[in-house]
Amino acid sequence: MPILVSVDGLGLGDFEAFKALIPRTRSVLENYSLHSLSAKPFKSAQPVWAEIFTGQPWFKNGCAGYSKPNRSLNKLSVFNETHLLIAPTIFDTGNSAPSVVINVPLLMPNPKRRIWLSDGSMPISKSVSPDSLRQEPLFRDYTPRPFADITSGPGRKRLNDCLDVETRRLQCARELFARNNWSSFLWRLTIFDHLTHLLGLRFLAAEDLEISEAIRQFADSLDSALFDLASHPSEELIILSTYSHVRCRASMNLNMLLAQGGFLKLDISNITESREKRFTIVGAVQDGSSPSFQTLRSMEGRLDCAKTLAASPVSGCVYINRSAVFEDGSVSNQSYLGTRQRVGNFLQTELTKMFGQSFVIEASPLNDASNAVVPEFIVSIDEVEFHDMEGNCVSEYDLPRTTHSSKGFLVLPQKYAKVADDLQPVQMQDLLTQCQSMP
Ligand SMILES: [Zn+2]
Repeated sequence: MPILVSVDGLGLGDFEAFKALIPRTRSVLENYSLHSLSAKPFKSAQPVWAEIFTGQPWFKNGCAGYSKPNRSLNKLSVFNETHLLIAPTIFDTGNSAPSVVINVPLLMPNPKRRIWLSDGSMPISKSVSPDSLRQEPLFRDYTPRPFADITSGPGRKRLNDCLDVETRRLQCARELFARNNWSSFLWRLTIFDHLTHLLGLRFLAAEDLEISEAIRQFADSLDSALFDLASHPSEELIILSTYSHVRCRASMNLNMLLAQGGFLKLDISNITESREKRFTIVGAVQDGSSPSFQTLRSMEGRLDCAKTLAASPVSGCVYINRSAVFEDGSVSNQSYLGTRQRVGNFLQTELTKMFGQSFVIEASPLNDASNAVVPEFIVSIDEVEFHDMEGNCVSEYDLPRTTHSSKGFLVLPQKYAKVADDLQPVQMQDLLTQCQSMP
């Protein structure tokens, strides 16, 4: 199994600047080939990693976003690997040595088979597993991310917090790698995503930012770590990024659009209460630290389900409120196909008016026999970010500096030379297992 390092958030356009910051590793990468990784329609880590782990598209593996409705469009659960309809296989090799997984979405602690460092997305109080790791100061102080809204304001403290968290993670990764007691090694960095949110596009190429020196220092440590990984005697290093950033030209509220079409009704009576309740619960489970941005921006408890035919409780995902699937569903089996068609047509027409050709709507297959709770539609609009809980249908003001794009990349060692230039996440599993058997 190759050693995988993910630099989610960086795109092909950042690759030269990235290499310039890691000169020792760069000399190794000169023999590697660069491939684009297109995750369309997805722009966020969870569904892309689900496709990598299972080798199957979202409507088969069941993961379409950060969370999923749990028996009601008003109740959400953070998506984890136990919700996958196809078990992830590539990282749990069944060998006697455990796999190391650092900061990877969806994966849960598994003390017998995994050395696990949290990515901060799960509503559990553990940050490292097995528990014995907590005896060591290096791992005891590991936190997956700065628990603050990293997308607002470029305050110096926020930048430093992001770098501190990633530096600690890097030290943990180096230590676990050096112990050499693992059968597979997967390490994901989030610093490049966080800093792009805070600083904007191409910040890596800028040499004279106030924080540039701190970034160079971090890159030095990263360079040494990557060089060590690339020098492993029997396993090869693969670097990938599952999404990148682009300018943000608008934000959009899909639920507001569905409401305008008469498909959705909000229950606005308890907005503040439900927000505060979430804040308390999440604060409690996360060792008392402040909850993350994503956890708070949830539609949970805000729909008038009896009057809602379709909603987008998870970013980019539109579900039909079927009574066969959801306890408080309002769309009967008889009216399902008609409603689905009307919602699909409405979205297609309205989004074309607003965004021309620069969007895609991917529909789940109609005759899928599985009972998967998957969205009927995945909506993805280029350079547009969904803010589905508050605000206008479309806003072009007060936008984030950047937003995610579904284009990532893969950097592969020479023995993968015949691999296509453009790849999709579902192809990764085949690629990795095939190349395992190559000389
Ligand atoms: Zn991001």
